[in-house]
Amino acid sequence: MTVSRPVVTRFAPSPTGYLHIGGARTALFNWLYARGRGGKFLLRIEDTDRARSTPEATEAILQGMRWLGLDWDGEPVSQFAGMDRHAEIARAMLENGSAYKCFSTADEIAAFREQAKAEGRSTLFLSPWRDADPASLPDRPHAIRLKAPRDGETVVRDAVQGDVTFGNAQLDDMVLLRSDGTPTYMLAVVVDDHDMGVTHVIRGDDHLTNAARQVQIYLAMGWDIPVFAHIPLIHGPDGKKLSKRHGAVGLHEYAAMGYPAAAMRNYLARLGWSHGDDELFDDAQARAWFDLNGIGKAPARLDFKKLEHVSGWHIARMEDAELLKEIAGFRAATGAPPLSEHQIARLRPVLDALKAKAKTLPALLDQAHFALIDRPIAVEEKAAAGLDIVSRGILKELTAAVQNASWERDELEAAAKQIGESHGLGLGKVAAPLRAALAGRSSTPSVFDMMLALGRDETLARLQDQAG
Ligand code: GLU
Repeated sequence: MTVSRPVVTRFAPSPTGYLHIGGARTALFNWLYARGRGGKFLLRIEDTDRARSTPEATEAILQGMRWLGLDWDGEPVSQFAGMDRHAEIARAMLENGSAYKCFSTADEIAAFREQAKAEGRSTLFLSPWRDADPASLPDRPHAIRLKAPRDGETVVRDAVQGDVTFGNAQLDDMVLLRSDGTPTYMLAVVVDDHDMGVTHVIRGDDHLTNAARQVQIYLAMGWDIPVFAHIPLIHGPDGKKLSKRHGAVGLHEYAAMGYPAAAMRNYLARLGWSHGDDELFDDAQARAWFDLNGIGKAPARLDFKKLEHVSGWHIARMEDAELLKEIAGFRAATGAPPLSEHQIARLRPVLDALKAKAKTLPALLDQAHFALIDRPIAVEEKAAAGLDIVSRGILKELTAAVQNASWERDELEAAAKQIGESHGLGLGKVAAPLRAALAGRSSTPSVFDMMLALGRDETLARLQDQAG
């Protein structure tokens, strides 16, 4: 097979109301393959099921793609909008003799099957119209069927599965255009992929049998067959086909759990594809490394522990601007309001300290609680226990001591130390009431990090609120 054309891949979801994690991985593979080769990545919405294809259902998919950071080229293509073109190709196939008009009614087909079953024959429908004399055809509604080869084999040359052979005896004369004039899915997919110039079809292996039928249409039209790569579906941690009982199956659920999109790209790329032993990588590496050879034949299993690990790695090495963007995406996914400028200004100075520890964005924001709240600070019960009369006194002394301090770590630390020593207390004991006053909690970032992030005025105000 020679494919010298520039690479064109596509993601062709049917709108189901959300972007499935398996669909997201399919999209990612197509995106990586195209982007790593200077090719195009197209998006086609397979919206021929009119009942399910609401604008909201389509938007949910686009939203998932945007969140995951998979940009597509051009406008999304609507499969439904191509109906006339699909019908035109069905007629072209009539013309070239690779298809025929079939006047059998649904009742006749059902009766055929019934009888075949009773006689123990194959129930694949054999239309009596396949070889009818074109001059003697009735003038009534009819389907257009592919005149599929009866003998021999149809081979799907698959970059993942190898050559997969289907006996033509097992493939019936599929309907291309229904008697109501609507094209079938099988026809629409081939016509669209051809018209969009798709060179590589990377999708779930639940479409492998469809590929055999699609190959027959390509051959009937004399069109170039794209490279197929059918990837094994994702399984749950127990090795069974992924379903809702395993937990989250929608990409939006992962967004809402606070895994950064960058980590999801890394994690999903590894779900079924590998590059040696590399587990942790960035987009540039993924683009450079991604190849169809690296896709495995065995289904990959979801592993939440691994996802946490990947997530933590990405958070730790993220630039502030990217991290803030991820946080914005996380908050949007949970319906939380965006962080205010004011909150972001307080958050920035502690980001580096927090990055290293947090595995997810909510874990990071939880540590950043002090920066996101305003006075009056509600003090949690556990932290309040540390605010006894002695501690309140210490806070008062500290307030006075740092009032005119230059707002630098060394000086703040020295002041706290000194006051602790004068009470015969270590820094840890002084830190407890400080945490309570500044964050209302007992688990916080370093107290000096908090003081520096909050600035002098806000720190003094919080201390004064709790000082005795
Ligand atoms: N619309 C199909 C699906 O969502 C994908 C078809 C294809 O990739 O060819 O499963």
